[in-house]
Amino acid sequence: MFKNKLAVLFTCLSVFSFSAQSASFDTVTLGSKGGIQDGNLTAFLIKSEQDSNFIMLDAGSVVNGLIVSEQKGAFNNIALPDNSPYTKVGYLLNDKIKGYLISHAHLDHVSGLIISSPDDSKKPIYGLEGTNKDLMKNYFNWSAWPNFGNKGDGFKLNKYNYVDLVPTMWSAVSNTTMTVMALPLSHSGGESTAFILKDQKGDVFAYFGDTGPDDVEKSSALKTVWSTLAPFVKEGKLKGIIIEVSFTNETPDKSLFGHLTPNWLLKELTVLESMNDKGSLKDLNVVISHIKYSLKNSEDPKVIIKKQLADANKLGANFIFPEQGDSLQF
Ligand SMILES: [Zn+2]
Repeated sequence: MFKNKLAVLFTCLSVFSFSAQSASFDTVTLGSKGGIQDGNLTAFLIKSEQDSNFIMLDAGSVVNGLIVSEQKGAFNNIALPDNSPYTKVGYLLNDKIKGYLISHAHLDHVSGLIISSPDDSKKPIYGLEGTNKDLMKNYFNWSAWPNFGNKGDGFKLNKYNYVDLVPTMWSAVSNTTMTVMALPLSHSGGESTAFILKDQKGDVFAYFGDTGPDDVEKSSALKTVWSTLAPFVKEGKLKGIIIEVSFTNETPDKSLFGHLTPNWLLKELTVLESMNDKGSLKDLNVVISHIKYSLKNSEDPKVIIKKQLADANKLGANFIFPEQGDSLQF
């Protein structure tokens, strides 16, 4: 009897591990909001299923994001080594997070990185050259904050080494099994970045920093990203994307300031769909980030955005709205 029960248990376990194996990327939402709530600003952890090390996608909220995620059980499968001098959160920050991919230097995307830097470990910051320059010029400059970088003004504490990513080129992400490609985005005339991460099987996941629609930005930046992703869609290798929808459809184009609405996101995704067969984005996982938080006593923008995306979702995409601390597999 006991033996039979054991056999059932093992069968269940193997089914579970099979489904886990079919995933390629793990993410944890450290911060989900597009302002104004300190402690819950844009930041995601991502890792390949092929190794156990994370990289952070933007860093609006770092330590608070880790605390909330730890409390929600997002790191239950990571054991704190007996000899670690750190708390679990300290161990994750120092030993398991191997670098930052920063889309642009707006505060809601980097404040957690700056504030946690004194207790962080040595690691790279990856970004387009302009983003890295903004970080050294505006924050790690001995005026706003000590210079924890390896470049910039004054004495260099050399904790973070800036890695300038060259658009369209694949670069290694140190201490992980992933490579990354950076592509510029247009964000109200300023530069932001889309990062495409690739694992050793050739599966990819795309993360978009803040971006306006091409038509409003008078840009072809998003079209270039869609063209880069289209062959992966065709081969079934695009496992998911994280992209922003900051505002509801009621927001006029002139008030978008480099952001998307549900209608604009669907219009942009239709550009990607049109590069392959109709229906090619069916069931694509699209994680919605950066919804603007409101202190007005009116309907939650997230509820409205959810409904507006669902009502016009002719693509059949799978829209996902994670809360801080949620872990997702792709
Ligand atoms: Zn921004």
